[in-house]
Amino acid sequence: MSNWPRPLATSDELGLIRAGLPLTREDPADCPAHLAVKARPWLTAASRLPAYDPFLTFALKPLMTALDRIEFHGRSPAEAVEELRRTRGRFGRGRPAHDGLVEWTVEALDRFLSRRRILLDNRGPGELPTEPVAYEWVVRDVLPVHARPDARGAHVYERTAWGRRYASADGTQRELWLLSFGSAKKDRPDAEVAAAASVTAFGRACRPGYDRERDRPEPYTVVDPHRSAPGPSRIRVIDFGCGDGTARTTVDCTPAEAARDFGRYTEPVLTRMLDGSERRPGRSCVECSGAGRCSALPSSAGHGEQAGLIGLPLPVRVRTRRSLSASDLRAYADCPAKYHLTRELKLRSVRPENPAVRRGRAVDAVLNEQHETRRPRGCRGLAAPDESAWSGLPPEIALAAAAMVERHAALCPLDRLAPEEEVRVQAQVTAYDPVLDLVLVAKPDLLHTRRGGWVWRETKTVGRRPYEGGSVLVHHPQLALAVLLMRTGELADGDRRRSRIELELLGSESARRLEIDPWQPSVLASARDIVRRTAGPWLEETVYRAVPGRPCRDCEALDWCREGREHLAADSRRPGGAPVPPPGAAPAACGASRPAAG
Ligand code: SF4
Ligand code: SF4
Repeated sequence: MSNWPRPLATSDELGLIRAGLPLTREDPADCPAHLAVKARPWLTAASRLPAYDPFLTFALKPLMTALDRIEFHGRSPAEAVEELRRTRGRFGRGRPAHDGLVEWTVEALDRFLSRRRILLDNRGPGELPTEPVAYEWVVRDVLPVHARPDARGAHVYERTAWGRRYASADGTQRELWLLSFGSAKKDRPDAEVAAAASVTAFGRACRPGYDRERDRPEPYTVVDPHRSAPGPSRIRVIDFGCGDGTARTTVDCTPAEAARDFGRYTEPVLTRMLDGSERRPGRSCVECSGAGRCSALPSSAGHGEQAGLIGLPLPVRVRTRRSLSASDLRAYADCPAKYHLTRELKLRSVRPENPAVRRGRAVDAVLNEQHETRRPRGCRGLAAPDESAWSGLPPEIALAAAAMVERHAALCPLDRLAPEEEVRVQAQVTAYDPVLDLVLVAKPDLLHTRRGGWVWRETKTVGRRPYEGGSVLVHHPQLALAVLLMRTGELADGDRRRSRIELELLGSESARRLEIDPWQPSVLASARDIVRRTAGPWLEETVYRAVPGRPCRDCEALDWCREGREHLAADSRRPGGAPVPPPGAAPAACGASRPAAG
C-alpha cells in the first residue's frame, strides 16, 4: 500500500488518479504530500474551500475560449475580440476578467494566431498542415470492471497535457502547443517534456465529465472507442510565449521515441509523486485541504499568539484562500490593479526591469552563490566576482554592484559562524493565519542559527544614501512581515534572547547593518500595525481599480492598463516630462489592436 498522506484529505476515495504536466515537475518549491493528494481528484473534492473571487483568476481562460470561438465556432479574430471585450472575458458565463486581463488577452490572441500562421506557412521538410482538434488527448489505463483496485487503491489512471491541439487531416502528425505568460519556455524538466510528448503521441480523443451529485470530476470518456486508424507517426510539442509571441519546438519525434523518453524520464517521477508523503510548507499550502490541520505548516495558534497572526477579523466576503507576501503588500499599496494583474494573474511585461531592480537582483545572485559555499570566513577575502555576473547592466550600474558586493564582505553574517550552525540561503518561510485562512510567505536572503537563536538577514541594495532615519519597518514592510513570521514554527522555538532580524543596507560607498528584536512588544505592535494598514484594505478589496501615479512608469502591467498609459502620456506632455515607455513586445498583426493611449 502506498504511503500517501491520508490525513490531509477528508474523503477516502482513491479510485481515480489523474496527472497533468504540473505534477511531473518535481519542483522543490512544491509540497510532495500535496501533489500526491492533488493527483487523486476524488480526495480533494470532498474538502472544497469557499470559492469567492470577484474576477477570473485563471489568466489563460479568456484566451483559450477566444481561440475556441475562432477554431471551432467559425468566428473571425475580430469577432472573437469583440465578444471578449463585450462580455469582459466571460463568453457567456462565469466571473468577469479584469480590464487589464482583457487587454492582455487581445494581444496574446493576436500573437498566437500570427505565430501559428507563420509556422504553417514555413513548414519544415515532411511537415503536413495541421488543423485544430477540439477533444482533449488523454492517456488512460483502466483496470477491468470486475478487477480489484491496485496497490494504490486506484482503478483508473489518466494522464493529460493542457494546451492547444492540432493534427494533420490524415491523423499521422500531431502538435501540442504549451502556453506560457512571458516568452516561450526553454527550461521544462525532462520529465515534463516527455510527459507532454507521450500524451501527444498516445492520447485518445476524450470528453471530460462531471458528477454533479457528488460534485467531483468523472473519468474521461473516449469519444472513438472503436477507432481502427493508426495513431500519429510524428509528433511535435511547441512552446509558445503569450507575452512576446515567441515559439520554439520543444520536441519533434516519433511515438517510439516519446515512449522511450517517457519510460526514462517521466515514469520514475510519477511513481515518486504518487507516493509522496513529505510535507513541505510553501506555495502549495494555498490550495491544500490540509492547511490548518497539517503539523508541518506553522500556525499562529499554539504559540501563545492571539489566534490570528495579523490580528485582523475575517472580511465580510470570505475569499478563496490566498497567500500574502511582502511583494504582494507592496504591489497592492502601489496600485490595486497592479497587484491583481502582476501578483494574482502573474502577467508581466517582457520589458526589462529598471536598472536599480536589475542591480539588486544581480547582487543578490552573487551573494547567494557565495553563501551557498559556506566558507569559514563567509564572503570575507573572496575575489571579486567575474564580470559576467553583471552582464546586461549599464557600466556605471555594474560598477556600483561590484562595489556593493565588496562592501558586503565586512558585514557577512557567515564570517566565523561555527560549523555546526545551520545556514539556509533563500529558504521559504511559511505560516498560516487560521482566522483569515491566509498563508503568509517570505524568502529571507539568509536564515541561520547562532548559539540557539535564529537570525533572519535581509540585504537591500540602496542608492547613494543608505539610511536616512525613521522607522525601518515602515521603510521596509517586508521586515514587518518578518517580525510576525519569526514568532511562528521553529523560528519561535529558538532562544528568543539571541534571535533577531538584521537589515543590511548596501550602498556603493558605504554599508551598515541594523538589528530588530522581534520579541519586543513595541516592535510586534508596530509590525502588526504596518501589515494591517495594507492588509486590511487588501482583504476587503473586490474592484482592483487602477490608481495611476508614480509606480506606473515601472509597472509590469503598464502595457495593458489604459489609465496608466493615459497618465504617462499626460505626464510626457508636461515640460521636461519623460516619454511613455514603449510596449514590452511589438504587437502582432492579426486584426485586433490595443486602444490608443491619451
Ligand atoms: S498544508 Fe502545506 S505542508 Fe501541509 S501537506 Fe498541505 S501543502 Fe504540504
Ligand atoms: S500602470 Fe499604473 S495605474 Fe496601471 S496598473 Fe500599473 S500602477 Fe496601476
